[in-house]
Amino acid sequence: MQRCKLCLMPDSVPGSNFDNEGVCVWCREGYPPYTILGEQALKNKFKGLGAHQGTADCLVGLSGGKDSTYALYRLVKHYHLKAEAFIYTHGGSRDYAIHNAEKTCAKLGVKLHYTSLKENAHSQAFLNYFKAWLEHPDATAAGMTCVACKHLHILGSKLATQRKIPYVVWSSTPLEYSPFLAIRHTGDARHQFQREGLLQSGVKMARAMVSSPRFAWGVLAQPRTSILGCLAVFPSSSFLRLSYPDVRPIMFYSYEKWNPDHILDTITSELDWQIPSEITEDWHTDCVFNVFKEYMFQKMFGVSYTDAHLSNQIRHGFISREEARIKLKESKQYYAAAVAPALQQLGAQELMSKMDLSYFDVEI
Ligand SMILES: [Zn+2]
Repeated sequence: MQRCKLCLMPDSVPGSNFDNEGVCVWCREGYPPYTILGEQALKNKFKGLGAHQGTADCLVGLSGGKDSTYALYRLVKHYHLKAEAFIYTHGGSRDYAIHNAEKTCAKLGVKLHYTSLKENAHSQAFLNYFKAWLEHPDATAAGMTCVACKHLHILGSKLATQRKIPYVVWSSTPLEYSPFLAIRHTGDARHQFQREGLLQSGVKMARAMVSSPRFAWGVLAQPRTSILGCLAVFPSSSFLRLSYPDVRPIMFYSYEKWNPDHILDTITSELDWQIPSEITEDWHTDCVFNVFKEYMFQKMFGVSYTDAHLSNQIRHGFISREEARIKLKESKQYYAAAVAPALQQLGAQELMSKMDLSYFDVEI
């Protein structure tokens, strides 16, 4: 396996298209495209809001992780908005993340709402699709393991509608995009990085159902969780717009630059945000399902979300390649060790025998 000379993406990823200099297509094209609209644009958005009947100006999706914590902090302290927050809890939630969310809201005087799917619907959907993936590893089954999580977009929009809050704020950033996920490789530079449309995803789903009975079972066992989750995959999806017409999404990091060091410094000093010392990763570790997502893509393509996230940061100048290389090496060790406790949290220890942790043992 060869890694790109500029970032850390391996040539095992479909469509990486290395050139003769050993540089990947994502470096050549400056993936992901990331433009910031600026603070004034965000201020204008709220200025234009005028009087409204809602209990707050915005509802912030708070995971307890660092990016959403910082977004809430800025909206309250810098933009002086009246905010409420909600956390989506499920069988893979980590206690420390919920604790961070509660502490943050208490310090900022923000009302925190708790939302979740019924009983163990989220864990069940995850396990159904993960078992299907173990039998028949493909990107569709891997992607569907997170389908229940997309319900947070529905639950947040619903809550905002009930409380007549005009905006729901989300904290994902383009720097989290993984080029190996739901990307069409057309070979045409302009369309290289387009995400798949609903129709293409539907065709893929149908194919996966035909080729894997266990995958089909995953869909049929929880059709509502599966289908609605697919329709609500992005906060800006038309399904959400049509279902909740009085609520609009705001992507916070489209307005303010995502700067990981500054975010971490601010929330630790201002909000006493903390993660337990045994968790050496500060990205996406607020959810145990992430451990399996890393594993699945590691096995399929020799690459994980962390490779993609760090490589995106190298390209955008947030981290040097060498710093990222050390972090990536640590992350593989972290995730290899995190699998057994994560299975235990889900009560699915028996799946350990079907996993091969040596996939995390890669040269970096
Ligand atoms: Zn590269």
